[in-house]
Amino acid sequence: MSKLGCKCGHVITDQTDSLPYKASLLRDEVENKFWDEVHRELKPLVEAAESGDKTSIADAFGEFSPIFSAADKLQDRISSLYIQRMSTAYECQNCGRLWVQKNNSERFVSYVPEEGAYGAILAVASGVPENLD
Ligand SMILES: [Zn+2]
Repeated sequence: MSKLGCKCGHVITDQTDSLPYKASLLRDEVENKFWDEVHRELKPLVEAAESGDKTSIADAFGEFSPIFSAADKLQDRISSLYIQRMSTAYECQNCGRLWVQKNNSERFVSYVPEEGAYGAILAVASGVPENLD
């Protein structure tokens, strides 16, 4: 997704990283499955690395090529799992509507904030004091 037209008329753009109005959503029903998949990818590499045996590492990660390192391949696999399991949420910076991606689709549904304004709820620093107690 690169652009999403909000009902207020604002266009939410997604063409760069580290957006303060975008977040990933991991549904609780797939959280354990996601972490099992990540663990399944990491385990052979950790075991091979612990063994110190290059043949074991090659067995776990296929043939090494001069272009892609085992670390790159692992990152690709985990990124792929992440993309497969995560949904996206956007917050309109004009009206504060939260747009949540429907599972396994390109469709988004919107939710209007009680305050009726942008609250930077998806930003790291929302400006609202945290109450961690
Ligand atoms: Zn809006």
